[in-house]
Amino acid sequence: MVALDACHTKNKKYPTLLFLATIVDGNNQILVLAYGIAPVENNDTWCWFISNLKHCIHGLASPNVVIVSDRQKGLIDAVAEELPTNEHIHCTFHLQMNLRRHFGAQVSKYFQRLIYATTREKYEEALTILEEQYTNGKEAAEYIRAIDVGKYARYALKLPRYGRVTSNAVECMNGAFLKFRVYVARRLIFELWTYMMRCFYERRTEAQGSVELLTTYAKERLDEFEQEDGRYVTCHSDVNTALVQCNGCVEQFLVNRQPRLSCSCFEPQEMQWPCIHVLSWCKSKGEDYLLYVDKIYLQKSLAVCYSHTIPPITEQDLQNVVTCRAPEPVVRRGRARTVRIPNGGGSSRGRTEFQYPVRDEPRLIPS
Ligand SMILES: [Zn+2]
Ligand SMILES: [Zn+2]
Repeated sequence: MVALDACHTKNKKYPTLLFLATIVDGNNQILVLAYGIAPVENNDTWCWFISNLKHCIHGLASPNVVIVSDRQKGLIDAVAEELPTNEHIHCTFHLQMNLRRHFGAQVSKYFQRLIYATTREKYEEALTILEEQYTNGKEAAEYIRAIDVGKYARYALKLPRYGRVTSNAVECMNGAFLKFRVYVARRLIFELWTYMMRCFYERRTEAQGSVELLTTYAKERLDEFEQEDGRYVTCHSDVNTALVQCNGCVEQFLVNRQPRLSCSCFEPQEMQWPCIHVLSWCKSKGEDYLLYVDKIYLQKSLAVCYSHTIPPITEQDLQNVVTCRAPEPVVRRGRARTVRIPNGGGSSRGRTEFQYPVRDEPRLIPS
């Protein structure tokens, strides 16, 4: 699953947009596949970015690769044009931000229940509650109904999203990125590349040195299930299906391993690892539940993933370079800023002061 997003850089004189394509690895860490700089976010610039990405990442254009992004018109169209066979889902963070803007924070928070609904019935039920009991609920429900449910709700997704529900670029790069944001384009690209290569080195060293079979992320979740083992019992089962019931209450889950492993809790479908229900079924049969863990969660896979480095793309390799101009500087209104520098005269009385214009040409270091 590849996330696409753009965000504004914070350089005052040369504000640009930074385009990011990111994925998560088996240890729930963000890996930046590619980044690009463009003056605006529209259909042309997104097409340019995605066509280059497609050229570099073989296998990207495939019905098995999920693209997640916000619903920006230019971006939606660009994905449809450049990656027509890919499954394209919505970033729930952006959906929630929109809901918040139109209908308030309560509605936006409640939307979580719709994202993680495990059945159509539960989804509809939650939507009715929103409609009837929340301020602006009616309008919000109408707004939500207009969005394709298969593009964000857990129960309706066609392909796993590995727990990642957002494409937000700023969130992806977290602290490191915020620090780079003030730089001009060339320095920004250099810093991002250095940062990513450092990540590659650290993650590779860690994965290669690990004695564990699974990544910390997967192991922690499966350990949680191990500790809760005994909470569920298998009531009925045949070769491929099982009905697993909670000891404390009557809640039941249906596990099916044909054609692929699934459970009515939807965790195996979304995460590609066994849920607690699968685990207790496997244990009751004396089967190894680790067989159901996707290979992306193996330390070995992580080591292989980070054993490569990403060479910077050369100008000759760039695809469909139509216009590549220098960024336009922002022109500030009013006269040039000045600083007062005292003329090294002795007395304070009648001291003359020179005014120097502030140096304001493009520099690599932010002012
Ligand atoms: Zn229970
Ligand atoms: Zn389950």
